[in-house]
Amino acid sequence: MTEFRTGRYNPQRLPRLLRAVCPTAAVDSVLRLDPCGLFRRGKRLLLLDVDNTLLAWKGRQVPPDVAAWVGAVLEAGLRVCVVSNTKRPKRLRALCEALGVPFVRDRFKPSRRMFQLAMERYGASPEETIMVGDQLFTDVLGARRAGIEAIWVRPVSGREFVGTKISRLGETILRHWLDRALEEES
Ligand SMILES: [Mg+2]
Repeated sequence: MTEFRTGRYNPQRLPRLLRAVCPTAAVDSVLRLDPCGLFRRGKRLLLLDVDNTLLAWKGRQVPPDVAAWVGAVLEAGLRVCVVSNTKRPKRLRALCEALGVPFVRDRFKPSRRMFQLAMERYGASPEETIMVGDQLFTDVLGARRAGIEAIWVRPVSGREFVGTKISRLGETILRHWLDRALEEES
């Protein structure tokens, strides 16, 4: 896998077709996102992927620093909702209960459905919503299709579902273009 480069993207540097899938930024970890900064930018609803975004794939416990970050997001005045199409709803429920946040589980990303359900539940507009996830073809593409800003996060671990590994090959190609649109490395 090629190196995961972080920074902000300038979609104007991308072919028009790819602008639709372009995340706002790539970050090393969710911990790099400032909860108060999100609120100041008008964000009121944070949507989160779980596996390899908050914790390792199949992990049982959200790391304490990540749990504390979710707490800080709530304290900053945002609602937080996990969007996941996991096949293990029990595990998802346990993780979300530990974090103190609800979840939406529905059609596979990049379907817009989960994003729309979450926004409806909280009465948030796409402009007020932001999605954070580790996969371009599910988290980022699904959010962008729903008109939502997306942040791409470096996968927590290299271990993942075989389907994800296949999707990563596509990411490698797309990343070739995205890297050209990187403005500032962070
Ligand atoms: Mg994931």
